[in-house]
Amino acid sequence: MQPVGLQPGNPLSMKPEQAVSVEGKMRPGKSSVVGFLGLTDSLVECCRQDAQMLARLNITYKQIADKLEGLVFRTVRLMNESKNFKSPALLDGRFRVMLESSGGHQDCPFPCNFNAWNLGSWDLTVENIQSGKKMAFPGLIVHLIREHGFFEGDTSYRLDPATACSVLELKSGEDYTPKTVHNYRYRQLSYTDRSEEIEEIKSKWLRILETMQVGEGTYIYLVEVLPDPKNPSEISRDGKTYNARLYIHNTTGETLPDEANVFGIELDTLHRASRRRDFLTYQILPLTKHVLNPQDRIA
Ligand SMILES: [Zn+2]
Repeated sequence: MQPVGLQPGNPLSMKPEQAVSVEGKMRPGKSSVVGFLGLTDSLVECCRQDAQMLARLNITYKQIADKLEGLVFRTVRLMNESKNFKSPALLDGRFRVMLESSGGHQDCPFPCNFNAWNLGSWDLTVENIQSGKKMAFPGLIVHLIREHGFFEGDTSYRLDPATACSVLELKSGEDYTPKTVHNYRYRQLSYTDRSEEIEEIKSKWLRILETMQVGEGTYIYLVEVLPDPKNPSEISRDGKTYNARLYIHNTTGETLPDEANVFGIELDTLHRASRRRDFLTYQILPLTKHVLNPQDRIA
């Protein structure tokens, strides 16, 4: 039976020796304490059985990953916006989602470049309050299912695909792609008030894309810069992608707004800049925000 939507990172698509190498890293005490597989589970066999189950249910990996991703990131958004990190979220009028930090972050055990700094650091439970059905899973499972068709083996972190479909009320053929909007955030890279350093930084500017005066003697610049593979900083402008950085030149030490949206980039805690007369350099980070449904709330 051919499973629906087999990805290239799925062990069923891998060369046998590659699957064996990944399997070794998934045993308890290897890439995680609990492990992604039990002591005797076969990675390929686990994936084959789950793929057969999905084929019987006529549900794809993408549908499960999409639905879970939406629930996880809408919960995170509600928690951040309400500053309430203890209460569950109630989503779509029926899913009570509890998200807790696992106290560290778990990387993906497969050979891939996935950045697990957020998904890999959460543990979740979802209860369907209409059916009373419940399930628990680690945040990383969203990535494991989407890219690797992997629901984990015989461990406490396994998410059984049939259980997931039942709790989430997934229907064959339905599109669960989460709705998102795109924005940017920033990360401070450096600051200086030494004019020779400022001149050196300026020599790496290709051109200033936009300038904004935010106070007396205080300017924010959006600048096209030479690409830096270690700190890529991409921004789209008028349908083109630039390697760009954000610079704040504060010559007066005056107070800047705590939060602002300049050049379509969400800025917060800019007040840090206000205490010094500084030239600050920021890396721009793309930010994806999950769109809430009108009835979504902290329960
Ligand atoms: Zn991965």
